[in-house]
Amino acid sequence: MTVRLWVEFKCPICNQELEDDRDLANFLVCKNNSHGLLRFYTGDGCFFTTDHKVAEALLLKGRKVHVSDPKGFVQLE
Ligand SMILES: [Zn+2]
Repeated sequence: MTVRLWVEFKCPICNQELEDDRDLANFLVCKNNSHGLLRFYTGDGCFFTTDHKVAEALLLKGRKVHVSDPKGFVQLE
């Protein structure tokens, strides 16, 4: 299960490899200009974006997505 997830750690929008997020543990990040800052939480496989168009594009691809800043999300936990 974990191995399968790691294989899929490419950005579903621009197809770039996701990088480790230096600010947040357990997050990967893609900073491609085409979609702005996009974070991926490895804990539950959800993407985080503050851009509604990017969120829609991810939903169309069958991905789970939260339209919020994960820094706020992490603080809530
Ligand atoms: Zn990307």
